[in-house]
Amino acid sequence: MSEFRIGQGSDVHRLAAGRPLIIGGVEIDSDLGAEGHSDADVLLHAITDALLGSLALGDIGSHFPNTDDRWRAASSLQFLRYAVDLVRQRGYEVVNIDSTVHLERPKLREHIDEMRERIAHTIDIEPSAISVKAKTGEAVGDVGERRALRADAVVLISKG
Ligand SMILES: [Zn+2]
Repeated sequence: MSEFRIGQGSDVHRLAAGRPLIIGGVEIDSDLGAEGHSDADVLLHAITDALLGSLALGDIGSHFPNTDDRWRAASSLQFLRYAVDLVRQRGYEVVNIDSTVHLERPKLREHIDEMRERIAHTIDIEPSAISVKAKTGEAVGDVGERRALRADAVVLISKG
């Protein structure tokens, strides 16, 4: 009988001029980018936290402290790869990932499939097992007023 576990992750970054906007491993043309350590990829951080959370392995900050210069400009794809390696070392496989990015603009629709493929390639599963959804903030709050972007992710893993 298979053993299942679920994990949940969420993340937020401030938006600022003069920073790149990288979401799901894809660089997106935008007047505002994401502030933060590493490449500030809000979606990959949420998914990495969901993977770590599925096995109660702490969070991204405990594995990659933002006080550590090694991660200053790191690609968050390597955080994602690290988390999925921990999952596999414990005998689990990723069943599927569902996620939502909250960003007022630009619209992400045309980039979604590339994000899914980038994530799928990095963790070595089919793109059909990865869902990325995009929502605006309806012009209110930190997302709607373009002060921040957020991401939420849920992951299911199984063993046996
Ligand atoms: Zn983050």
